[in-house]
Amino acid sequence: MNIVEKVKEEVVNIAHTIYKEALVFETWGNVSSRPTESQVVITPSGIPYEKMHFVDMVVVNIDGEVEQGKWKPSTELPLHLAVYKARKDVKAIIHTHSVFATAFAVSRQDIPVVIEDLAQVVGGAVRVADYGQPGSNELALNAVKALGQEGNAVLLANHGLVVLGRDLSTALQRCRVIERNAQITMWSKLLGSPFMLKPEEIAQLRKNFLFDYGQKEQKMENEKILRE
Ligand code: 13P
Ligand code: ZN
Repeated sequence: MNIVEKVKEEVVNIAHTIYKEALVFETWGNVSSRPTESQVVITPSGIPYEKMHFVDMVVVNIDGEVEQGKWKPSTELPLHLAVYKARKDVKAIIHTHSVFATAFAVSRQDIPVVIEDLAQVVGGAVRVADYGQPGSNELALNAVKALGQEGNAVLLANHGLVVLGRDLSTALQRCRVIERNAQITMWSKLLGSPFMLKPEEIAQLRKNFLFDYGQKEQKMENEKILRE
């Protein structure tokens, strides 16, 4: 199996996982990853997740021209390509319509950092980008602007969530943690005024996660990535 085929398999597996976990529904949301600097594997547009298979994955070049696949690529291709062009560190993107994160996107409020796992795996609040029509260049530009060079996730106003990663499993973990953090924030607001973690506490949690948490191999990998 060559690298493009391997990435097609990863993309379809992640698409099925986010569907099973209700981070997306019906045909909404999309997933991509880049096997090489100049190619992107992306889910097709408007195909129900239950009917989406390996053979349905679309391969495009960095300018969006279809190289492989029988279907039209996701309508959010301009968003995925704009992020890859702006961020060399990003190799995978997951766009979800998960309920609690989208509630923040609808009320156009950033998802604050209220628990350690968001500080650890995302490193800060999830900001809301200015509104753009789904699939538009405007939406793509607004998302790239809100992400900057450091952001790992962004909310699309009145729409959903976009999460980046150096690989698909990192992006998936971030989708899960963000959704859970959004849910906990909303429940804690019902109880009263939630206490936010302070910027210095967030920075410390992120640092500890990258360099102390987990096993030696992962720490070495994190150090390597941060040096690049
Ligand atoms: P696609 O089915 O074209 O990927 O679109 C879904 C979506 O979420 C658009 O924002
Ligand atoms: Zn969408």
